[in-house]
Amino acid sequence: KLLEKLNRDGDWHLFEQFKEHVDTGYIDKVVRDLTRRPGLAGTPQQKKNAEYIFDLWQQEGLKAEIVQYNVLLSYPKGNHTNKVSLYDASGRELFTSKPQEKVLVDEEAPEEVVQPFNAYSPSGLVKGDLVYVNYGRAEDFKRLKEAGINVSGKIALARYGKIFRGNKVKFAEENGAKGVILYSDPADYCSPGDERYFPGGMWLPGSGVQRGNVVVVKGDQSTQGYPSTNYSYRPSEEEMSKQFPSIPCHPIGYDDAYFLLSSLVSGEVWQDWQGSLNFTYHLTGLLDNRTVQMDIQNENVYRPIYNVIAKISGTIEADRAVIIGCHRDAWVYGAVDPISGTAILMETARIFAKIYRSGWRPRRSIVLCSWDAEEYGLLGSYEWVEDNMKWLQNEAVTYVNIDTGIAGNYTFSSRTVPLLHDAVYKATMELPSPYDSSITLYQDWRSKSESRNELLPHPKIQPIGAGSDHTPFIALVGIPSTYSKYIGYIVDGKVIPINDYPLYHTRYEQYELLKMIDPGYTLAKIVTLFNCELIRQLVDARILPLNVRTYAGVIALNSRRLEKLRTAFTENNVEYDEFLASTERLKTAARIFHQKIVHLDQNNPLQVRMINDKLQSVERAFIVPEGLPLRPMYRHLLQSPSGLNYYGGTGFPGLEDLLELPDSDPEKWPQIRKHITILTHSIYSLATFLERD
Ligand code: GLU
Ligand code: CA
Ligand code: ZN
Ligand code: ZN
Repeated sequence: KLLEKLNRDGDWHLFEQFKEHVDTGYIDKVVRDLTRRPGLAGTPQQKKNAEYIFDLWQQEGLKAEIVQYNVLLSYPKGNHTNKVSLYDASGRELFTSKPQEKVLVDEEAPEEVVQPFNAYSPSGLVKGDLVYVNYGRAEDFKRLKEAGINVSGKIALARYGKIFRGNKVKFAEENGAKGVILYSDPADYCSPGDERYFPGGMWLPGSGVQRGNVVVVKGDQSTQGYPSTNYSYRPSEEEMSKQFPSIPCHPIGYDDAYFLLSSLVSGEVWQDWQGSLNFTYHLTGLLDNRTVQMDIQNENVYRPIYNVIAKISGTIEADRAVIIGCHRDAWVYGAVDPISGTAILMETARIFAKIYRSGWRPRRSIVLCSWDAEEYGLLGSYEWVEDNMKWLQNEAVTYVNIDTGIAGNYTFSSRTVPLLHDAVYKATMELPSPYDSSITLYQDWRSKSESRNELLPHPKIQPIGAGSDHTPFIALVGIPSTYSKYIGYIVDGKVIPINDYPLYHTRYEQYELLKMIDPGYTLAKIVTLFNCELIRQLVDARILPLNVRTYAGVIALNSRRLEKLRTAFTENNVEYDEFLASTERLKTAARIFHQKIVHLDQNNPLQVRMINDKLQSVERAFIVPEGLPLRPMYRHLLQSPSGLNYYGGTGFPGLEDLLELPDSDPEKWPQIRKHITILTHSIYSLATFLERD
C-alpha cells in the first residue's frame, strides 16, 4: 500500500480540471479591488492589501500567514516638491518640472499618489551644465569619452530604456556627473504616428513619469545578509551610504524633458541617439549660458512591510517545495505591475485550493507568496529568503515567479534558467493559443519569437537576469527559477517596436489600462493555466523535470562564445582550453546521467529520491559563498545578473565584470585567471558529482 502511494505518478487529467475551474470573474475582482487605491509599500493601504490576500486564502481553506519585516524605505520628504528647473544667465527661472502627473482617469484617492521620484536617491541641490547621455549605458559613456565630451561636473540627462535605471545612475556617477535626470523619450514609449495616448490608448502621454528605485544592492539596505527582524543590527545611514547613489537622481516626462533637451546646442547627436521629440538633439552646451538645477529632497525611513505566505503540504515528499510568488506593492495603482500578476497568482492559488478540497493531494509541497516592497529593491522576497535560508537550501525544488503577467498582448515570453527550459516548453505545448484554439500556445509563441533557442528549434527563452523576486532565490541560493508573461503590442497587424509597456510605473497603470490590453482576461487566463500546469509538473512528476543536458549545452555554448578573446587569454596566461575541456566533460556527464534516469526503476522510491536529490543539487553547484569577484552580493557563478544591465543575464557574469576593468588595472588579468579557475573547477566538480553512482 505504502509503495503504491510512493510510486503514484502525477494526475495527468488534472489539467482538464484547471481549464474547467479557471474563472476570469475572480481575476477581475482581484484586479478591481487591488487597483482602487495606490499600493505603495510602507503605507496603511499596503497592510490592508496584505490582509485582503490573507482573507481570500483563508476563505479558500489555505493555511496562510502574514510575515512582517521592518525595512528601510524611501519617500519624497514631507511637503517638499522635487523639481528640475532651467535658469537663464541672469538667474531667472525659465521652466520648472511639473510636481505631479495629470489626472486623466477618475481616481478614488488622488491624494495618495506619490509624486514621481527615484527611491533611495539622496537629497541634493545641484546646478550646472547638462549632458545628454542617451540610455546611460556603459557603451554610451564610452562613446562620449571617445568624442571628447566631458560628463564630469555636469548633470547627466539619460533616457529610460534598454537597461535597469540603477545602472544608469551608477555609470553616470562613475563618470563624474553630479546629478542624473531620467526621462522617457517618445521614441521608446510611444508608437510613431499613433496619437492614441492614455486614456485614448496605451501610449505614454507627455505628463507620464516612470518612478523606480536606483539602488544596485538588493534587499533591505539596513540588513545585508540577514533578515530584517526586530532583533537585527542596523548600521548608521553613514555606514550604509556607499550602497546608495552619491548623486541626486530624478525622473521626468517628455513634456518636461522637451525644455531641457531643446536647450542643448553643442554637438549634434549620433543618429541612434536621436529620440522622437521634434528637434535635433545635441550632446551638451546649454543655450545662452543657461543652467539646470535639481532640487531633490528624499528621506529614508523604517517601515513595516508584509508578505503573505500560504502552504499546501505535499503528502509524499512534504520536505520538497515548489514555491510560487508575485509582489503586491506598486508605485501607484499598479494595474499591470504587479496586479495583473497578483490576480494570476490568486487565481492559481484558488484553483489549487479547490482541487485540494475535492481530494487531490500533491506529491511535493506548494508554497504561495505575495511579496511586499519589491519596487524598493525586492525587499519582501530578499528578507524572506534570508529568513528561511536553511530550509530553502535543502528543500526548495524551484521558484516560479510572477510579476507583471500581462504587459502586452502580442506574445508569450519567458525568462528561465536552462534547467527549466523543457518544463516551460512542455507546459506551453499543453495549452491552446489564446488567439487560435486550433494551435497550441507553444506554436503561437514559436511563430512570433524573433529568434530560436540556440540548442533546439524552440522559441527563444531569455536568461533569467534579475529585477524581480526570483533574484534572491536564484542568485543567493541557487534555486532554479522561471518568470513568464505576455508582452508586445500589435496594432493594425503590425508589431510595435517598444521595449517595455509605455505606462510602466506611472500613475496611469489604472484598471482601465489592463482592460485595454486584455479586455476579456483571455491572456490572464492563459498565463494562469500556464502556471497551474507548470506547477503541476513540478509538484507531481516522480522525476523532477529539470534537464541537466540543456544546462550543460548552454554552458558549453557560452564558453565557446569567448573564443573571440582567445588571443587576449593566451597573452595573459588564462587557461581557456582547460575551461573549454571542463564544459565538454560536463556535457558527457550530463548525457550519461540522463541515460541513468531513462533506465531508472521508477518503482523503486529510494532510487527515485536519489536521482531527484541530485537533480535538485545541480543549480546549487554554482553557488559560491564569497560571491562574484566584484559583486560579492551575488553568489551564482552563472545566473547572477549582468553588471552592465541588472535586468539581464549573461553567460559568465563575474568574468564579464572583470573584462570591463581597464587594461591599466594590474589586478585585471590575475583576477581573470583566478575566476576562470573557479569556473572550471565548479564545472568539473558538478561533472564528478553527476558521474558518481
Ligand atoms: N522591478 C522593479 C524595477 O525594475 C524593482 C527591481 C529591483 O529593484 O530589483 O524597478
Ligand atoms: Ca536583509
Ligand atoms: Zn513588478
Ligand atoms: Zn515595478
